[in-house]
Amino acid sequence: MDQCVFCKIIKGEIPSSKVYEDEKVVAFNDINPEAPVHVLIVPKIHVQSILELDEAGYNIIAHVFKVASNIAKNLKLDEKGFRIVNNIGEDGGQTVPHIHFHLLGGRSLQWPPG
Ligand code: AMP
Ligand code: ZN
Repeated sequence: MDQCVFCKIIKGEIPSSKVYEDEKVVAFNDINPEAPVHVLIVPKIHVQSILELDEAGYNIIAHVFKVASNIAKNLKLDEKGFRIVNNIGEDGGQTVPHIHFHLLGGRSLQWPPG
């Protein structure tokens, strides 16, 4: 069965520019950055979105936010701010069907999104 692109990155089958990894998540630079800092934080379990999580899965999402906070501080984004984005489904603009969180920063970001 074909694996999704993020499962391949998690298994090391395709390369990525990793900034962090532990037993629950991996974080790597987005291949098509929308800001000076654009890191994807990806749980190692393959689920499509928050809609499919069980209790253990929600604990992993709490861990994602801890990791995001640490990465943001390491990259000095805590001084001026940053954004965490989770796109879900077609209207949400999700293109990779494996749950992930965008950590964006290093410039002033617009709101509302298009
Ligand atoms: P989304 O549109 O929210 O599903 O986000 C998917 C993100 O994954 C996009 O920002 C893509 O640029 C990024 N992406 C897709 N393939 C790769 C890859 N091989 N390495 C790093 N980022 C990727
Ligand atoms: Zn996957």
